[in-house]
Amino acid sequence: MAKNTKIFCIENPFLDDQILEAANIIRNGGTVAFPTETVYGLGADALNKNAVFHIFEAKGRPADNPLIVHVDSIKSCLKLVKNIPEKALLLMDEFWPGPLTIVMERKESVPDITTGGLDTVAIRMPENSFALELIRLSGKPLAAPSANLSGRPSPTSAEHVISDLSGKIDAIVDGGQVSIGLESTVIDVTCDPPAILRPGKISKEDIEEHVGEVKIAYDDKVHHESETVRSPGMKYTHYSPDSTVILVEGEHEKVACRIKELVNDFTLRNAKTGLLITEEAIKDFPSDMSFSLGKKDKPEQAAKNLFLGLRYLDGKGTDIIIVDGSFDSNGIGMAVFNRVRKAADMIIKV
Ligand code: AMP
Ligand code: MG
Repeated sequence: MAKNTKIFCIENPFLDDQILEAANIIRNGGTVAFPTETVYGLGADALNKNAVFHIFEAKGRPADNPLIVHVDSIKSCLKLVKNIPEKALLLMDEFWPGPLTIVMERKESVPDITTGGLDTVAIRMPENSFALELIRLSGKPLAAPSANLSGRPSPTSAEHVISDLSGKIDAIVDGGQVSIGLESTVIDVTCDPPAILRPGKISKEDIEEHVGEVKIAYDDKVHHESETVRSPGMKYTHYSPDSTVILVEGEHEKVACRIKELVNDFTLRNAKTGLLITEEAIKDFPSDMSFSLGKKDKPEQAAKNLFLGLRYLDGKGTDIIIVDGSFDSNGIGMAVFNRVRKAADMIIKV
């Protein structure tokens, strides 16, 4: 049966009682979507099996894809993990609150459903004040995957959450646009050296500065459902709009040239084509079907605009979305490439 999803529009989480109402929904086993600095999350009490089940149900998320548990202090991790390894503490000290998720050995008190049956649990302390207030007022650790239908681009605004999950969840805290636009970096510290399972804003180099060598344990491919991978979430079709996505990667001039050819081709074939394109090239494609990815040497702008742009162009009824892959792949750029390669139906290298 469809739920009546409440929407709380909140400007200041410290001054508005509606956040308390949202926290009460969590305390009573409900599901509440809320902003974090990365993307919007769909939260429920991580220790309440039933509540967590409703997250999986609303998103249509595969049961073996574990959830990230959000806390408001390092101390609250102690309820969830057997021990906090030295390297994890160093990372928490440096990067929390912030977009780094740390995988540690879980305590029995964390239900199987939350961890997808794994004996580890992924934990993060977000920086966003709405998220922190909601965790603090509910007094619960919040299991919260991205608040989108499974497989769709992650939501960077409350409107995106409404379009995917309205009628399926109890409430949405609308705290405006998120600041980063891409999910957290995930690092597993149960192995030596620690392993990065998903790239995000915090890079391998940022992490190595504090804990020494770490290895990369992800790739940019979509894996088959029956495969076993260390971070189960990374094997599923991801971040995909309804349109067919074509990524053109390479040096700027060549990419712009190839995109022009593709646009001409698709126009002749009457395919409605949208462009997710760098600021430098957008002037060559004057159209309401072009959405800027930002400046090519500012990958943080591409991070903020990728999911937003995919959803915007999808909403325009495009058949094809062409993504300009000539932006900088350093730092968060590497995470943007990871997401867009997974979203792409075809990758053209020029
Ligand atoms: P999402 O919440 O939608 O951002 O997805 C969470 C990501 O964290 C997925 O890629 C999961 O596979 C990964 N993750 C969560 N918990 C664990 C864990 N215990 N071990 C490995 N990866 C995890
Ligand atoms: Mg997700």
